[in-house]
Amino acid sequence: MTLSYSSIQRHGYTFENQLYGCQFSYYLRYIKQIPPTEIDSKNWKFEKILHSVFEHFYPSLNLSAIRDYPSPKNYFDIILGDLLNKNWDYTLSETAFKDAVSTLLIFSQNESNKYLASLNGETQFMPIHLELPLKEPYNICIDKVLFDHSMMNYKTAKELPDSIKIEHILQAGIYAIDYHAKFGIWPPKMVFYYVRHNKPIIVNITQPVINIVTEISNNVTENINNGKFTKNSNACTWCDMRHVCGLEKIRLI
Ligand code: SF4
Repeated sequence: MTLSYSSIQRHGYTFENQLYGCQFSYYLRYIKQIPPTEIDSKNWKFEKILHSVFEHFYPSLNLSAIRDYPSPKNYFDIILGDLLNKNWDYTLSETAFKDAVSTLLIFSQNESNKYLASLNGETQFMPIHLELPLKEPYNICIDKVLFDHSMMNYKTAKELPDSIKIEHILQAGIYAIDYHAKFGIWPPKMVFYYVRHNKPIIVNITQPVINIVTEISNNVTENINNGKFTKNSNACTWCDMRHVCGLEKIRLI
């Protein structure tokens, strides 16, 4: 059995006396293999497209070509536009497309500002993405890997978290464990870059982070092996399995 960040997140766990996720949702999605609600499927597709654009943006850059364009932003816009067109799913709405374009324009503006600042020696612009042939059982998708093996994950959320959450720790730890298993190297950190806000949230990969994630992962594996799939009605509000779960009525009351 391969556990991924999203499957552990869905299954849930207890951290600092708070219960996250819903084991029954895991059962419906991963054991019964029921698709999520249509709106959630579309949201998921939207996220996947943007991540694919981010992932391919850096390998597509040819910095020596920038001088042929009116500005770095103009060059970045063109690369991002091409990638969006190649990856877009036309079953998604026009509103979703506009949202994707506006998110990528913010991204382009911020990245081109960083590039210009790097010319003055103010920051380091790192258009690096190591080629990582991550396949099963390494069920992770890293948007960008820096020279020191730090991992970057682009977040397109409209809201910016005010601090590091357990979800960040979980995702960073799982990705770091998989990265280490594949390449024998521990990434020093994972940077969650909130594109719409131009703000990073950084999780350093430390032994306590690995310990927390290992314990959560072991508990989840044990519950699944024991067929323990308890409903957690506190998780219903955002659940994408509510269309097939008997607790939907309770959620709506
Ligand atoms: S609707 Fe609530 S109880 Fe049902 S699967 Fe979703 S989170 Fe669990």
